Amino acid sequence: MIRDPETFNILRDTVRRFVRERLIPAENDVAANDEIPHEIVHEMRAMGLFGLAIPAEYGGLGLTLEEEVLVAIEMCRASPAFRSIAGTNNGIGSQGIVIDGTDEQKQRYLPRLATGELIGSFALTEPGAGSDAASLTTSARRDGDHYVLNGAKRYITNAPEAGVFTVMARTDAKNKHAGGVSAFLVERDTPGLSVGRPDRKMGQRGAHTADVIFEDVRVPAANLIGGKEGAGFKTAMKVLDKARLNIAAVCVGAAQRMLDDSLQYAVNRSQFQKPIAEFQLVQAMLADCKTDIFAAQSMTLEAARMRDEGASVTLEASCCKYFASEMCCRVADRAVQIHGGAGYMQEYAVERFYRDVRLFRIFEGTSQIQQLVIARSLIKQAQGH
Ligand SMILES: Cc1cc2nc3c(=O)[nH]c(=O)nc-3n(C[C@H](O)[C@H](O)[C@H](O)COP(=O)(O)OP(=O)(O)OC[C@H]3O[C@@H](n4cnc5c(N)ncnc54)[C@H](O)[C@@H]3O)c2cc1C
Repeated sequence: MIRDPETFNILRDTVRRFVRERLIPAENDVAANDEIPHEIVHEMRAMGLFGLAIPAEYGGLGLTLEEEVLVAIEMCRASPAFRSIAGTNNGIGSQGIVIDGTDEQKQRYLPRLATGELIGSFALTEPGAGSDAASLTTSARRDGDHYVLNGAKRYITNAPEAGVFTVMARTDAKNKHAGGVSAFLVERDTPGLSVGRPDRKMGQRGAHTADVIFEDVRVPAANLIGGKEGAGFKTAMKVLDKARLNIAAVCVGAAQRMLDDSLQYAVNRSQFQKPIAEFQLVQAMLADCKTDIFAAQSMTLEAARMRDEGASVTLEASCCKYFASEMCCRVADRAVQIHGGAGYMQEYAVERFYRDVRLFRIFEGTSQIQQLVIARSLIKQAQGH
């Protein structure tokens, strides 16, 4: 749903210009230094990019999901690391509070997440619990008006930068399933919480992940999201429904950038005395990229509109995340191929994107997990549940 097309177009044009004039020229430095320059983070904050998905009453832009998806597509024409620094504040690092938080939790955290003064992270995955997230073993034991957390979380995006973590932990030791899990807001400087060294990854330099360790971390009971034990896994899944549509949009933006670069390369590179763009086998790769991108964009926008209208989109979000992330990797592969040897060289952005986008088929639920969500949902419908 686009509420006010005129205002929204101004935002979208501003983001488009920012990407072209500020982000794309800084990509090589970000990759070399593994860091987003502070001036750029500052400009992103001033533009409101940390609070796209946070309601206006808490200082965010309060975009609808369709609007947010369109902005994400624009942002991700530049290296995905730029979007990642603001991505958790708009997505998994804030939405647990937006969707299920108490008024007090919203007042306390959302305004600072909206400005980017505070970075939010989402800590679900553990060394022994990835795809089977409901088997997590981080424990939260009630002790007076606090909970005491113990355990370890793995590959947590923006952990090195985060000021507050949404942490899923088991409050009911006897219930080993999703119903025993609760979600907590844990502040970075709480004694006993430590963050490991940043992981050394295949790509996405400038975006950081790390382990987060909890050793007798005392968290006020007021920081239990929604004030209800046993609801944490449901909160996490609601957050992921929305996040999966955002990742699908990220994939569309990145794929569009790789196609733009490949098209430019194909019209400028000549072999056999003509531009390689005139060879039909190269044209087939360009056409397949465009078709893939158009399909992923259309389905993502449609699912975002459905969610804006209040529909449950668990199945559709999985379809979009699955198709768009697989599509993005197909486009990356063709983009490198169209560039030939140059595509294997670091001077060309497609070499970096090829590595960066590989992540999208893995995090926020692997492709196999999306297939399971889609199939289980269909089977449930067929069985009349
Ligand atoms: C860069 C990065 C950032 C991340 N950021 C975050 C974050 O911010 N917060 C967070 O909580 N987590 C984060 N993660 C973790 C991510 O969500 C998990 O890595 C992902 O869910 C997969 O879990 P796993 O790595 O344990 O793989 P596993 O679950 O061990 O999977 C290994 C393989 O087995 C397959 N598999 C597993 N179960 C099944 C099944 N039932 N049927 C078929 N195939 C199956 C998988 O699809 C995969 O191919 C991040 C990961 C990375 C790499």
